[in-house]
Amino acid sequence: MKPCDIVIIGHGAAGLCAAVSAAEAALKRGLKVHITVIERAPEAEHGGNSRWTPSYIRMPSVAGVAEGFVEDIVRESDGRADFNYFQRLADNAGTSAAWLQQHGVAFHTPVYYLAAGPARIQPVGGGAAVIAALLASAKRLGVFFHYGHAAEALQLDEAGAVSGLVLDDGSKIKANCIILASGGFAGNPDMLGEHFGPAARSMKPISPGTRANTGAGIRMALAVGAQPAGDWHGMHAEPIDARSSGPAPVVLVYPYGIVVDQNGERFFDEGAGLVHETWEHFARHIHMALPGHQAYAILDSGLQDIPNYERAIRSEVAPIRANSVAELAALLGIPADRLQTTVDAYNAAATGDTSAFDATHTDGIQTAPGYTPPKSNWARPLTQPPYLAWPLIGAVAYTFGGIATNPNAQVLGAHGPIPGLYAAGEITGHFYGTAPNAVAMLRAIVFGRVAGSQAVLDC
Ligand SMILES: Cc1cc2nc3c(=O)[nH]c(=O)nc-3n(C[C@H](O)[C@H](O)[C@H](O)COP(=O)(O)OP(=O)(O)OC[C@H]3O[C@@H](n4cnc5c(N)ncnc54)[C@H](O)[C@@H]3O)c2cc1C
Repeated sequence: MKPCDIVIIGHGAAGLCAAVSAAEAALKRGLKVHITVIERAPEAEHGGNSRWTPSYIRMPSVAGVAEGFVEDIVRESDGRADFNYFQRLADNAGTSAAWLQQHGVAFHTPVYYLAAGPARIQPVGGGAAVIAALLASAKRLGVFFHYGHAAEALQLDEAGAVSGLVLDDGSKIKANCIILASGGFAGNPDMLGEHFGPAARSMKPISPGTRANTGAGIRMALAVGAQPAGDWHGMHAEPIDARSSGPAPVVLVYPYGIVVDQNGERFFDEGAGLVHETWEHFARHIHMALPGHQAYAILDSGLQDIPNYERAIRSEVAPIRANSVAELAALLGIPADRLQTTVDAYNAAATGDTSAFDATHTDGIQTAPGYTPPKSNWARPLTQPPYLAWPLIGAVAYTFGGIATNPNAQVLGAHGPIPGLYAAGEITGHFYGTAPNAVAMLRAIVFGRVAGSQAVLDC
């Protein structure tokens, strides 16, 4: 029997889940299958976005997702998300977590930054632990890894089925099945500019892995007739410390203070919701709309009353500190009179009963009627020096526009699945409007597995 060649493009969670599940499926069915993973990064930089994610997963336990998971996601997308795709995700969530456990990944139930919200589990060690465990399994199962080469083009035969791919050095690889797992286009300034406007070109990728996601897989698939899908104006972004050089240095204490622009003016409701409900819009706004693409989170020493507040600050750089608002403004380069006026006006409006302050829930402590923009929760006056500030920029984590796939992870062309072509993870277009919280890793894992076993079935 001729061996079947499966090539997987990308070495993140989706790609490794595909590789391991394909190898297991082949073993189980007694089939001879060659599995190769092509990764553009050098070996030492493998892992894509998946390596840098804390990997919070919206599941109350490893047993499965909560009731209403699919309906919630479809509602959050204003009805645009594919119900059947997310139903498959839900149906496979528990078995996928158990499968990861078999491969050595342990899970725990983390506290999510400071806020409550949907129940989540997390692999101990985050996404890096998932990558390490699956890489070891893939090697044990005989998967071949080809690092430092980017896939550039897909090849189809006369019947329109996958036959191979071309790498960036011009070499060709034969394939009966190709699984695209090469992420979105957050690392491609030209594509960001095209879909989000010129300002997006200079948006900082949030992690070292994000840079490698240049949309190459999306472009290759579209070139052979894959249908585009997902929200091409959607991206997940988060506010990070402008001074940090570390990976994903998010600063998520801003709901408990105020945020001002370079002119010392507030511009949004910092307490509109739990942090995962405001961060994406806030981070995009900082970059796309604010002068200098920068904002400043201003707090006072009341921050220390919040138990474990450090959990919500992933920057290695200490906040800027001052004993007065004027001194803080001078250190930040903001007009002191404007910042003082803003803080005074906010303090005058922060008249709610702060005895019920609760950082973990929307506590309803809001600014007085008529104050704009209002602050709807956690509105405590800022009167206790030292004052603290973090300069913030908006960093892109991943994009939503991608290629159409069905619940079997088959890539859809104009007339149905393209034979031999599959895709999983960020490259697929299934998110709309705003990122469903703590779902991106789960979809990479579940549909990576689906793609791997489907490819073996079709081989
Ligand atoms: C800082 C951060 C925090 C996050 N937090 C969470 C969270 O808590 N929960 C959650 O669910 N999600 C989270 N996410 C999102 C989630 O981590 C990603 O959506 C998920 O890891 C994507 O997995 P993937 O396998 O599709 O892509 P990736 O892990 O990005 O892998 C893509 C791989 O493809 C490679 N590649 C790209 N182009 C080519 C090419 N042409 N040829 C060969 N290889 C190529 C890349 O180098 C990379 O290794 C976060 C993301 C980041 C960056």
